[in-house]
Amino acid sequence: MGNNHNEGKRFLDSVHQFFDSAASYSRLDPGILAQIKACNSVYKVSFPVEIDGKVEVVEGIRVQHSHHKLPSKGGIRYSIQVDEDEVKALATLMTFKCAVVDVPFGGAKGGVKINPRTSSAKTLEKVTRRFATELIKKNLIGPGIDVPAPDYGTGSREMAWIADTYQTFKYGDANALGCVTGKPVGQGGIRGRSEATGLGVYFGIRETLLDTELLKGKGLDGQTMEGKRIIVQGLGNVGYHAALFCQQDGAIITGIAEREGGIFDPNGIDIKDAFKHRTESGSILNYKNARNYENSLDLLEMDCDILIPAALENQIHKDNAANIKAKIIAEGANGPVTRNAEEILIQRGIVIIPDLYLNAGGVTVSYFEWLKNLSNVRFGRMGKRAEEASHRRLVNAIESSSGKSLSPQERALLIQGSDEISLVRSGLEDTMINAYHEIRDVMDQQKIQSLRTAAFLTAIEKIGVSYEALGIFP
Ligand code: GLU
Repeated sequence: MGNNHNEGKRFLDSVHQFFDSAASYSRLDPGILAQIKACNSVYKVSFPVEIDGKVEVVEGIRVQHSHHKLPSKGGIRYSIQVDEDEVKALATLMTFKCAVVDVPFGGAKGGVKINPRTSSAKTLEKVTRRFATELIKKNLIGPGIDVPAPDYGTGSREMAWIADTYQTFKYGDANALGCVTGKPVGQGGIRGRSEATGLGVYFGIRETLLDTELLKGKGLDGQTMEGKRIIVQGLGNVGYHAALFCQQDGAIITGIAEREGGIFDPNGIDIKDAFKHRTESGSILNYKNARNYENSLDLLEMDCDILIPAALENQIHKDNAANIKAKIIAEGANGPVTRNAEEILIQRGIVIIPDLYLNAGGVTVSYFEWLKNLSNVRFGRMGKRAEEASHRRLVNAIESSSGKSLSPQERALLIQGSDEISLVRSGLEDTMINAYHEIRDVMDQQKIQSLRTAAFLTAIEKIGVSYEALGIFP
């Protein structure tokens, strides 16, 4: 699962080539297309942090890929392998991801070169607060500017530190909590955000399985999750929840790949129990009746119905694409399949559900959290009237982002009867279903072969409309 400078470049090249293939179907002006593709700004910073009495220089980066809508949005990744091209690729994907699910943000991404597994909580707090301060100093973070979120190696704890640092400097700003999403529920977070990406992955796979036309002749029985054999790479927030929701709907998790190795059991692995085993023993290996694989990448090539790469980019490349046996590759991670691999996989009839659609559940629910912060809504603490009014605002936002108009009865039910988590989940479900069909319509109309190209094209056209409406300044 390693990464290095060449890996970052390979990732960015792949994303650019995916963009170019889709752009070739667009009638937008070539200059506008070039602007839609370009990264708008890159900020690199080095800062000192005292770790165990020694001063160390830590590098951070924030890329705002697109300002066509503000704020820009995207996670911050903590990993020793973070490099500029990688973060640029991730920021680029965020722009198109937001457009696919009609979340009105530009794309951004950040990274800090630090190993979160070997660093103490104190060190991580110092690094996070200092990086947040560097962004505040340059006006590169704020509820209307750029709003970070969790990504690989970060979670709600880091987001709470960022929010607190921002509030300290922007004392009195009533919207301050909207400077970051993915916060703990008690610190302005929203219920359902932590599992949102994985739940969205599940909804996206479920919708694809219903698509009999797309899956004709692929050898997948039935249209439901029942009995589907799934291998997941990465038991982090995305992989764990995606596998859990699929399992709860009848799928069998036959393999899990992690950093230290992989396990395989054709009879199925209980995902919660395997997670517990890994937490307690420090390794996924040696789990009950499962067979161990020292090289976790072997798991990617084992027979299954659905492979969910949910770890890092460039995992399926031209050298292993011919060995993949899955019928569907469901991209929980960003960029797990390279451009060269995609060509091979499509020729072999393998369906790829692309990242910019499939893992967009995280940013969708981040949008709900941001809305909640801006209106200073606190669910469950208000009088009935106020609670209904705030639910109504969220229902409106959910309607506009999922494109579904609810019937008056449905609205009434949601406004009066829902708790926050069911509101969030139903908004996410509608968003994922609706976006799938938008992509499929474009695929049919333009006779495009891959869901990815269709998803990129859908997004490019939406962003193009924004640029046309905005005009070019000055
Ligand atoms: N880091 C997540 C992603 O890659 C979430 C971004 C967000 O919520 O802003 O989509």
